[in-house]
Amino acid sequence: MSDGEVWFLTGSQGLYGPETLEQVASQSREIAAQLDATIDADVVWQPVLTTAEQILDVCRRASSTPGVLGVITWMHTFSPAKMWIAGLDTLRAPLLHLHTQHNVELPWSEIDMDFMNLNQAAHGDREFGFIESRLGVPRKTVAGHVSNPAVIKKIATWVRAARGYDAMRTLKLARFGDNMRDVAVTEGDKVEAQLRFGVSVNTYGVNDLVAVVDQIGDEEIDKLVKEYADTYEISPELAVGGDRHDSLRYGARIELGLRQFLTEGGFKAFTSNFEDLGGLRQLPGLAVQRLMADGYGFGGEGDWKTSVLVHTLKAMVPGGATSFMEDYTYDLTPGNEVILGAHMLEVCPSIAAGTPRLEIHPLGIGGREDPVRLVFDAAPGPAVVLGLADLGERFRLVANEIEVVPPTAPLPKLPVARAVWKPAPSLETSAECWLTAGGPHHTVLSSSVGAEELADLAEMAGTELLVIDAATTTRSFTKEVRWNQAYHRLARGFGR
Ligand code: MN
Repeated sequence: MSDGEVWFLTGSQGLYGPETLEQVASQSREIAAQLDATIDADVVWQPVLTTAEQILDVCRRASSTPGVLGVITWMHTFSPAKMWIAGLDTLRAPLLHLHTQHNVELPWSEIDMDFMNLNQAAHGDREFGFIESRLGVPRKTVAGHVSNPAVIKKIATWVRAARGYDAMRTLKLARFGDNMRDVAVTEGDKVEAQLRFGVSVNTYGVNDLVAVVDQIGDEEIDKLVKEYADTYEISPELAVGGDRHDSLRYGARIELGLRQFLTEGGFKAFTSNFEDLGGLRQLPGLAVQRLMADGYGFGGEGDWKTSVLVHTLKAMVPGGATSFMEDYTYDLTPGNEVILGAHMLEVCPSIAAGTPRLEIHPLGIGGREDPVRLVFDAAPGPAVVLGLADLGERFRLVANEIEVVPPTAPLPKLPVARAVWKPAPSLETSAECWLTAGGPHHTVLSSSVGAEELADLAEMAGTELLVIDAATTTRSFTKEVRWNQAYHRLARGFGR
């Protein structure tokens, strides 16, 4: 169960006779075994499918078996596709149509009609592609031999997306307090989100959390504070014996209470709101950062949509570099335009370049005691940012390919964790397109997943994704936004 299963379904038909079907079975087993050896999931070969009843049965089981991330289909031979209608109509698991064949080269001098009849995915998969399109089945199509690393890469990407989708389908999210007053983009339709993404979003009074935080024992706090000292550079005032050590102990208390609340409720994501802190003495900073590092989703100001994305992308690559992020301010120096992203406190240390420093500083917002937080620069390298907007009639995902870069100069007076990045294709075009799409200021930033995982996820969730990358122009992007609007309105009528 740990890695999840992907079922490998091979289509054929009874017409070929037992001898040929034996060969189909043994060759498809080989392909499944090759995938199993290279993909980060258990690829489980299923007996060759030759009847509509078998197909319906396996599609039903794949849809209802816990731990099945998706199915890969391959028409080794010709599998008359009316046999697939009931099965595909039932299938709820993500689908990857692998268009491959057993051999790489043709044995030109040996080919006879037996060879032709055995190795006919070239037309068997076309029959299958037709019925997928005829039925409007969401899927990813990958063509090529499994010995080709590019083919494996596409399949592995889809498996990561399926792992994220699986996490989202069963996600429970706890909101502490509601939305920041008057803010529009962080709002959204929680009923539609539960239908579309599977996530269940519910609010708890922040004092329900405070009750748990307040009963944490001193011994637990001692132990956690020691863990902090072993893990981070600690500012002397926070260390044992320091003037402000009590603030660190209270930060540890919040972490322990929050962790307990989330564990007991089965929550893998949460939100906070600085306008609604109840009996909390500090805005949770360090606690949120450390919970994110353990895979929890988080969004500030009641932003449950971004919290869902943070957990989903973290589930795609457990232990990966993925964080809640906010576009904060720009350096518009011509030729070296960059975005400085951060949040009040809550950036995940999984994206840190070095050892984070544990510090305490005043926070003008929230009106509570000074909060403890981890401070660091994000590690340079390619990454994506992804945001989710609710357009009223549906959701829209907006992504931008970016390059995280070292800060242009040190930031000695900035008391929060931050990331500096160059958006593709340029800050100007990226920002024009992001605003044209109505993308939010809260995002998830990840260097562990790329635009292809996001495209696969969007396909699985039946949700629009607009990608801003090196090839994007404002003009073409604006058209894409308009065309998509028409498409998604029509697609609803088609049942998607
Ligand atoms: Mn914010």
